[in-house]
Amino acid sequence: MTKAAMFQDPMFHDEDKAREALEAELWPNGPVCRHCGCSAPEKIAKVGGKKQSHRAGLYYCNECEGQFTVTVGTVLERSKVPLTKWLMAAHMFNSGKNGVSAHEIHRTLGVTYKTAWFMMHRLREAMNELDPPRMGGRGKSVQADETYYGNSSKRSKSYRKGHSHKASVVALIEPHGRARAFHVKSANLKEVGKILLRNVHRTSELHTDESRLYVDLGRMFAAHKKVEHGGAGHGQGIYVADDGTTTNAAENFFGNFKRSMRGTYRFCSEQHLQKYLNEFQFRHNHRAKLGFTDGERTAAALKGIEGKRLTYRPTDEAKS
Ligand SMILES: [Zn+2]
Repeated sequence: MTKAAMFQDPMFHDEDKAREALEAELWPNGPVCRHCGCSAPEKIAKVGGKKQSHRAGLYYCNECEGQFTVTVGTVLERSKVPLTKWLMAAHMFNSGKNGVSAHEIHRTLGVTYKTAWFMMHRLREAMNELDPPRMGGRGKSVQADETYYGNSSKRSKSYRKGHSHKASVVALIEPHGRARAFHVKSANLKEVGKILLRNVHRTSELHTDESRLYVDLGRMFAAHKKVEHGGAGHGQGIYVADDGTTTNAAENFFGNFKRSMRGTYRFCSEQHLQKYLNEFQFRHNHRAKLGFTDGERTAAALKGIEGKRLTYRPTDEAKS
């Protein structure tokens, strides 16, 4: 679908339609009180109807006597940006593989660059998958691998040679399935061990390279298979052990992440790296190959605006 055709929908132009679309997405069975969780239809009343004097989309809960709208308690709370623009940004963010730059959001939506930047960080917050289920399981394999992320442009001010100046990233990948990526201080036994034990079923088969890091950790899983990077395929990007074990999925994930970062965002500082990893991971876990359409991916991202701690003061956006 072209961008022009995509934005024909009234929800991108009419604030009431945008709010109704968001309500339908977050409250498929009718409004739920943002304060006490009450969803009994006889206890929730719409306030004011169409009267101008009332805040649009306002509900009153008879159970706790509180008032709420669909955005209360979400990452969109107290935003000055119209919902039509939030929906547009969420759609642009989730169409295609590579995300969208703050510059493109700024130009397309007609908001300032700073506002676009804050919107994107809030949407990244929405795409952060909280408490995802453990990966792998009996008869399944999980690949674990590390990489280093840093500015590789020698002309950049922040360029410094060597791995020690780069950020370490650990990824866990189910071949043809889901992925999870973590920015760690250092990819050492303690950090990687913590991540593995928290996120992977111990009944899984662990696939890694021959790094010493995994020798002891591997014993905690049903089986541990190692791919020798020094083997015949080395240098051609092919890492397949004789028995078919590979860490290709992990290497592809890192390759795609770095390419996408370079193409869309140029570079991000270490401070924000985990947020970009979350975004990339979300898109990977809702990719077309797993059966998700652009629309379903956007809907999943919008669902994620609920239950997230607000990490930005509302004034940050107002200042921009
Ligand atoms: Zn209530």
